[in-house]
This record gives sequence, C-alpha cells and structure tokens, in this order.
Amino acid sequence: MARRPLIAGNWKMNCLKADGLALARGLAARIGIEATRAADVVICPPAGLVESVARAVAGSVIGVGGQDCHTVPKGAHTGDISAAMLKDLGASHVIVGHSERRKAYGESDALIRAKAEAAHAAGLVSIICIGETEAERLDGRTLEVVGGQFAGVLPGDATPDNTVIAYEPVWAIGTGRTPTDEEVAEVHHEIRALAARHLGAEVAAKLRILYGGSMNAANARQLLALEDVDGGLIGGASLQLDGFWTIIESCA
Ligand code: PEP
Repeated sequence: MARRPLIAGNWKMNCLKADGLALARGLAARIGIEATRAADVVICPPAGLVESVARAVAGSVIGVGGQDCHTVPKGAHTGDISAAMLKDLGASHVIVGHSERRKAYGESDALIRAKAEAAHAAGLVSIICIGETEAERLDGRTLEVVGGQFAGVLPGDATPDNTVIAYEPVWAIGTGRTPTDEEVAEVHHEIRALAARHLGAEVAAKLRILYGGSMNAANARQLLALEDVDGGLIGGASLQLDGFWTIIESCA
C-alpha cells in the first residue's frame, strides 16, 4: 500500500509576521516552480499567523495547520482557539498532543483525543503526537508507553483521511539526537500493528505515521526511507527554507 508522504512544519512560537510570510511565500514559490508532488506539505505557524500565511500560500499545494485547538467550537475559554476558528482562518490541519503541550499544560491522552475529534468535526485533519520520554526509553518501556498513548488518543472517528499519527520521541525533539533506524522502524511498525487492531488492517495500511524529532536536511532521506515512516513532523528545520525544502525533496 503506497502512502503519500506528508511533510509538516511546526513553527512553534517562532516568526514575527514578516519572517513568517517570507518563509511561506518562499516555499510556495519553490513548490510552484519545482512542482514537487513527492509529498503533501503543511506548515503550522503560530495561531496569530494562520490567516496571513494561508493567504500567502493560497493557490499552492501547501496546507496550513494550527498547533493546538480547544475541544469545543466557542465559549468562555480565554486564550484558546477552536478548530472551527482555525478552519475559518484557512487551516486544513491541526497538531494536537505535542509533547511541549503535554508537559507545559498537563494535557492527557483523553483531552488530546477530544481535541482531535473537535478538529475532525470542524473539517480539519488532526496530526496527533505520541512518544516516549528518555527515562521511559531507558526503562525499556517505549512500546508500552507509545501503545498506551495510541489507544488513549485515537479518535472515535479516525480515518486515514482525517487522522495522522506523529511518533515523536520526547528526548529527540530539538536536541539533535534521533533514535537509530531500527528503533524508529520498530515503533512505527508497532503503531501500524496497533492501528490494525483498533481500525482494521485496511484502514491501518492507509494511515500515515510521521516521524518527528530532530529531522533535518542531513538525516531526512534515511529516516523517510524506513518502512512505515510516511513523512515527518519537523520543528527547528522547518524554519529555514533551504533545509525544509531539502527534507521535502527527500521524499522523492
Ligand atoms: C517538533 O517539535 O515537533 C519537532 C519535531 O521539533 P524538532 O524538529 O526541532 O526536533
């Protein structure tokens, strides 16, 4: 089953408007010129830039995503943004359950699942993050932890069209360290097997499972070539046009 790779850039809390628009326009121009169709591409700017970035890439194949959403469409939730609002601003995707949010805001698997379901209800694709901490890996608990998270976050309405899983070992995020190829392949294989158990083999075969954690221009081709790795969720390296472009091209 050939799955079309997805390369998603998570800008986190970076880029003032001018820098973000320059990056988005540069990417749109390059994709327009070089017409890469090797992968789907999504960029996830801070919420305040979603609308202007979506306008900047309009007409290109680039999708735009939020980095989080609330579980309800509107209401008394100061400082939050709903999936419906992201959609209204031009987003097509939203990241939920990033480990930085799990850690800073104590987000649970159940909350993340509810956010993903809210995203789907609003017409967005959820990119749902799971991954073990370094202590859990050193304890030999990686598959147990990732398996538990997968079962806990899996939306009730998950399909290959509305759900993307991102395996992001917490200790690899922003550190320049990555698991070995064997370790990445093992976890992705396990996630696919779990997906088959929960969703059936046919759906699992179509589900995209991204790797995230210090993916960059130098290591992308090797990571993206691994079985069951269907793209990448990229933080730091998505902020630099040439590097991000090289990662996209590594899918070809
Ligand atoms: C991320 O934050 O999702 C991520 C993968 O970051 P980085 O690529 O910088 O490790």
